[in-house]
Amino acid sequence: MAQTVAARPPTPVIHQTRLLINNEWVDPVEGGTFETYNPATGEVIAEVAAGNAADIDRAVKAARRALESGPWSTMNAADRGRLLYELAGLVERNAEELAALESLNGGKTIGDARGDLQWVANTLRYYAGWADKIEGRTIPVRGDFLSYTLRQPVGVVGQIIPWNFPLLMLAWKWGPALSCGNTVVMKPAEQTPLSALRMGELAIEAGFPAGVINLINGFGETAGAALVAHPDVDKIAFTGHVDTAKIIQRQAAETLKRATFELGGKSPNVIFADADLDDAVTGAFHAIYFHGGQCCTAGSRLFVEQKVHDVFVERLVDKARARRLGDPLDPSTEQGPQVSREQMDKILHYVDLGKAQGAKLLTGGDRVGDRGFFVEPTIFDDVKDHMAIARDEIFGPVVSVLPFQKVEEVIERANNTSYGLAAAIWTKDIDKAHLFARKVKAGTVWVNCYNVVDANTPFGGFKMSGQGRENGEAALEHYTELKTVTVKLNG
Ligand code: ADP
Repeated sequence: MAQTVAARPPTPVIHQTRLLINNEWVDPVEGGTFETYNPATGEVIAEVAAGNAADIDRAVKAARRALESGPWSTMNAADRGRLLYELAGLVERNAEELAALESLNGGKTIGDARGDLQWVANTLRYYAGWADKIEGRTIPVRGDFLSYTLRQPVGVVGQIIPWNFPLLMLAWKWGPALSCGNTVVMKPAEQTPLSALRMGELAIEAGFPAGVINLINGFGETAGAALVAHPDVDKIAFTGHVDTAKIIQRQAAETLKRATFELGGKSPNVIFADADLDDAVTGAFHAIYFHGGQCCTAGSRLFVEQKVHDVFVERLVDKARARRLGDPLDPSTEQGPQVSREQMDKILHYVDLGKAQGAKLLTGGDRVGDRGFFVEPTIFDDVKDHMAIARDEIFGPVVSVLPFQKVEEVIERANNTSYGLAAAIWTKDIDKAHLFARKVKAGTVWVNCYNVVDANTPFGGFKMSGQGRENGEAALEHYTELKTVTVKLNG
C-alpha cells in the first residue's frame, strides 16, 4: 500500500525515561532527573533520569561483563551482523515514531527527521554487513615462523553524542562498535535524550545480549566526564564542540584512552561564475539552512566570485525570505526552531557581532515570535575574513558571503581557519574542481553538490575538526585493536 509520507505523524508517546544498564531499565543511584523540552514551544515534554558517576560505573561493569564473559564474548561475527540487521529492520518498522520523537525533542522538521531515519537504517545495515568481513592478514616473515594478525574489539567503548542528529550519531557510533564486537556505554546529549531511549528498547527487542548496549542520559560535566575518566573504558568516541573535545582529550590522557573526535567546522562553500547558478543557489541555500544551520558541515562561509556576486546574492536572499518556519511536526514546515534558548541566544549574539564589526545584513537577524526558539534565515554580505561571523562556528541559520576574484586567492582564504571538516566548490571547470579538491584542507570535499554523506564514505575532520574517521571501512580501524601472532614452525 502506498504510504502518505507527507502526513503529520501522531504525537509520540514517551515509553521510557530511565537508564538502560544490562538490558534493564533502572533509576539512577542518586535518583536525579532533568526536564527535556520541546524547542518549538519551550514546554516540558518529560522528566528524564539523570545519570552520574555511580551509574556510569554500573554501566561500565555491565559492559565489561558482556565483553569478557557473556554470550556476546563468544558470539560469532555473522550473528553479530544478524543482530544489527534486525535492529535496522526495527528502525524501519518504527521509523514514523522515531522521526516524530526526533522532531518533537530536537526541533528537526519531520521531513528531515524521516530522511535521518532512513540514513540510520542504512548505517546499521552497512555495518551489519561488515561484521564477518573484518579480517587479519598472514605476513611473510624471516625464519621459520607463521605470523598473522587478528583484529579484535578495542573493548568497552564510551560514546558521547550531540543533539543535532541524535539518532544518526547513535547509528554512526553503535554501527561500527558493535560490528567489531565492542560493548557500548552511550551518553546522549542532555537536550535530546528521548530518541536514544526508544532505540534502547528496540535494541533489546532485536536481541542484543545484556550489557552490550547501555544508555546513560545526563549532563556532560557529570555523566560524560565520568565516562571519560573511568579507568575501565578503553575508548571514547565523541561528537560535539571543539572546546569539549579539548577537555576530554586532557582527561582521557590520564588513562591513555583511545579517543576519536568529530567536531565542528566553518566550511567554505565556493561558487565560481562558471557554475550552473541554479544548482549553486539551491546548493548554497541547503548548505547553510539544512536543519537551521545546526550541522557541523554547514556551508557558513560562502565565497562567491565577484562577477556573479550581485545576482547570486539577490537570489539567495529571495529564497531565504520565502522559507517557511514553524511547527517542525507539520510536514509543510521548512525550518523548525533552534534546539534551545541557549543556542538561539548564541546565534543572535553573533548577529550583533556581525553588525558591530561592519558586515552588511541583507536579510534576517531576528528571533521569530516569542514562543519557541526560532531564528530567521540570515545573510550577511561583504564579510571580511577576520570578522567573528567568518571565523567562529555559529551553528545557526547565518551565512557569511565573502566575495573573491581568483582561484589561488579563494583556496588560501578557504584554508585560513582552524577547522577542516568539509568544503565545496561549484564550477564546470574540471581543472579548478580538482585543484581545489586537492588543496583544500578538509575531510570531505563536494564538487557541485553539498552535504552528500553516505554510510559508506569516510567522514571526519582535518585540523581542529577532529581526529579519526567515522563511516565506511575507515571507522573499523578505530574500533579494533591489531594483534600480531607469531608461531614457531618446526619444519
Ligand atoms: P554542544 O555545544 O553541541 O552542546 P557539547 O560538546 O557541549 O556540544 O556537547 C556534546 C556532548 O558532549 C553532549 O552529550 C554533552 O553532554 C557532552 N559533554 C559536554 N561536556 C562534557 C564533558 N566535560 N565531558 C564529557 N562529555 C561532555
